[in-house]
Amino acid sequence: PPAEPPQVVVDAHGLPYLDPRLPVKKRVADLLGRMSPAEKAGQMTQAERAAVGAAPGDIAAYDLGSLLSGGGSTPTPNTPEAWARMIDGFQLRAQATRFQIPLIYGVDAVHGHNNLVGATIMPHNIGLGAARDPRLARRTASVTAAEVRATGIPWDFAPCLCVTRDDRWGRAYEAFGEDPALVDAMASVVQGFQGARDGRDLKDDDKVLATAKHFVGDGGTEFGSSSTDGYTIDQGVTKVTRQELEAVHLAPYETAVERGVGTVMPSFSSLDIVGDGRGPVKMHARTDMLTGVLKGRMDFDGFVISDWAAIDQLPGDYASDVRTSVNAGLDMIMVPNAYRDFHSTLVAEVGAGRIDERRVDDAVSRILTQKFRLGLFEKPYADTDGADRIGSAAHRAVAREAAAKSQVLLKNAGGVLPLGKNQKVYVAGSNADDIGNQSGGWTVTWQGASGDITPGTTVLEAMRKNSGRLTYSQDASAPTAGHDVGVVVVGETPYAEGLGDVGNGHDLELSAADQAAVDTVCAAMKCAVLIVSGRPQLLGDRLGDIDALVASWLPGTEGDGVADVLYGKRPFTGRLPVTWPRSEAQLPINVGDTAYDPQYPYGWGLTTLAKAPEGGAGTLGALAVAARAAERTGAEEAGRAIVGKARLIVQRKAGDTLTPAVAKPFADAEHLLLTGRYGKAVDRLAAAYRAA
Ligand code: BGC
Repeated sequence: PPAEPPQVVVDAHGLPYLDPRLPVKKRVADLLGRMSPAEKAGQMTQAERAAVGAAPGDIAAYDLGSLLSGGGSTPTPNTPEAWARMIDGFQLRAQATRFQIPLIYGVDAVHGHNNLVGATIMPHNIGLGAARDPRLARRTASVTAAEVRATGIPWDFAPCLCVTRDDRWGRAYEAFGEDPALVDAMASVVQGFQGARDGRDLKDDDKVLATAKHFVGDGGTEFGSSSTDGYTIDQGVTKVTRQELEAVHLAPYETAVERGVGTVMPSFSSLDIVGDGRGPVKMHARTDMLTGVLKGRMDFDGFVISDWAAIDQLPGDYASDVRTSVNAGLDMIMVPNAYRDFHSTLVAEVGAGRIDERRVDDAVSRILTQKFRLGLFEKPYADTDGADRIGSAAHRAVAREAAAKSQVLLKNAGGVLPLGKNQKVYVAGSNADDIGNQSGGWTVTWQGASGDITPGTTVLEAMRKNSGRLTYSQDASAPTAGHDVGVVVVGETPYAEGLGDVGNGHDLELSAADQAAVDTVCAAMKCAVLIVSGRPQLLGDRLGDIDALVASWLPGTEGDGVADVLYGKRPFTGRLPVTWPRSEAQLPINVGDTAYDPQYPYGWGLTTLAKAPEGGAGTLGALAVAARAAERTGAEEAGRAIVGKARLIVQRKAGDTLTPAVAKPFADAEHLLLTGRYGKAVDRLAAAYRAA
């Protein structure tokens, strides 16, 4: 056999759409021209794999265009090979259709290939927002894309571009933060998933089509807006002025579209634009937003995929749901089980002239365009050559770096952190040794689960690699004397969507067991508390007894990243991507509010690495890193540190003034502003250090 595989000989059987040498536009037009109404309706139908798995012949019978795995809808066994085999099996059925139009398969890989056991699990988006490093976020997306595509999946329902305005929302952790500028900066992750803006990399075996979701205003829904349960913030109503809609919620989509995002998913929520006289209207019915703003003004040329059974929530009967949503601009409907009904209803509505054929042709053209770009016509089956990258050391290193950079040091009285190798440390708490809890929702199953659900390193295991002098007790029973410091790791258990399951269901309190663990340890010794959670947790008076406080978010499988900052191998550089409230009564609270008096303001985060050998050199290194990060992201404040008694705030450039919100917690402190060149700053810092 030849050493190199032979060149693929193009045999398009005289059919232009099969000829990869032709421009995508020509191929689309050719294929569309040949398709029947039923075949077109099939392309617009996305079914759940379990529903179709029970009747695989339906793929050809209904000319289905797409399948998905909803969260946790996994093959058995849940291995890369089984995923690839399963999808190839479906694809084989699609190859039996008249035009052999390949299926496009989609999953929610929202923090790594999270449905797959053994994948590299990244910090959830809230942690990436804290890291303030769009390039790093793009690298995490590239890793995710490579692992997803290696199992035969070309499409990912990520990133979530929600701007979360109320932490009681059970999807707060899926957001990069509360500030539109931050979310906007992170929207470039689209290119981590897809590669070049023009889609030319989508054929590669390590890229996937991305989905910007949930368009638009999913993070702005009002708490208590539902008359039935009084708390419907998930899938509820976003009431905003037109100006607020533009400035807060729409901005990141402009960026995603500009970066070439291939698909957009509307939100389950309703949008109520103040003064337009329409009241709340479901996003899946909003022609003005989907066709007007997204496809019109923003010139989005990809396709719009509905959310899960979302059209069922529209008023009226099913025919009306189908008509309303397709006419509004939906191109493909995630039905996800009702594919037979949807298909026949769509065909009937088009036949009766209630949906314009041109609308259908537009939808199908958009879908086919992405299938051609992904190279699915040439290579419909899984290319598993890259499967050995899944969970590889190189991929885990990216997740570890992201986990480290996402850690936000909120308080560090007396310089408890970083820990010293020789300190005797007492470790406790519900989230110290739990991969499931540190990964959160959307991990292996939809809701996620506590415990050993996928390979990884817990915070405790990672800490043990740094020191042999650890004692661990999950429930903080009888902390013995003689420890230098306690590290209590508490927080949430996993959840997805809805309101989460904290405390009594609607608040952000720590569980009783977590409160007891914190109280016991902090009463017995100096303590650092790590909050592993998808959103801020309220600490109340307890905060006074805590020496060091870290917001760890949901760091994923690489607990080593957390240990890296705890033991000073890396500086703390994360900064709050959301405001940390004092009390439930303050919610919702966001930077820019007129009355703004949070526990910790948006953007807050200490950086310290005071345990360096030559008195402060390590701190300078940390500050320099923070300063560079701030230069990149355009942040006003680069970093801050407490060295002895000197409190330092590093500003990005000379002459910058700090906003009152940022400066307030330091009001009584001696500020040392390190600006511009860090050479001179070294001397000043050293002097301050000696004086302290
Ligand atoms: C979620 C989407 C997700 C979809 C498919 C829905 O419940 O809102 O974010 O992409 O399910 O799993």
